[in-house]
Amino acid sequence: MTDQEKKSERNVPVERETSIECPVCSSKLFLVYYTTEISYEREIYIQSYVCHNCLYKESEIFQLNTGEPIRVTMNVQSPEDLGILLYRSPSTTVLIPEIAAEIYPGENSEGGIVSIEGLLDNIRERFNTMIQDFEGDQEELKKIFRFFDAIDKKEEESFTLILEDKSGKCRINSSKALIDRLSTLES
Ligand SMILES: [Zn+2]
Repeated sequence: MTDQEKKSERNVPVERETSIECPVCSSKLFLVYYTTEISYEREIYIQSYVCHNCLYKESEIFQLNTGEPIRVTMNVQSPEDLGILLYRSPSTTVLIPEIAAEIYPGENSEGGIVSIEGLLDNIRERFNTMIQDFEGDQEELKKIFRFFDAIDKKEEESFTLILEDKSGKCRINSSKALIDRLSTLES
């Protein structure tokens, strides 16, 4: 990826429909978000909820790299997405709910930059060692095998990749990645 591509990838606002209702007219709100940099400021993240029906708008701007806990979520949808790079800080927890994968900080990972594919390879290795004394649900196991099979065959396999980091540094290098401040989350 060239620097130019990287730049446009980061700065293009992404819009997606949410299930949140507009407080004014009850239409579904759209979430618009992007990351940008301002001279002499650090990287900032801008997100707005907008209503296309009545033009209600609610914006939030926050600085990244402040050390606040964040959660980065991305819906990985196509084989092309697997090449996307992510940064795991040493305090990052990685979650993929669809295959019940959870990697906590300090568990065989020193963090660093890795592609989504590289991360999946890492999870598969852990899974293969774990499986030897697996006594749980066999259906669940089959599901996980099918998942990795589909990834190998470059089939369309949609899943949710979540990074949580109390140091606020983890990133997924894609405009499809959504950042939440953990302190503002209900769960
Ligand atoms: Zn509205």
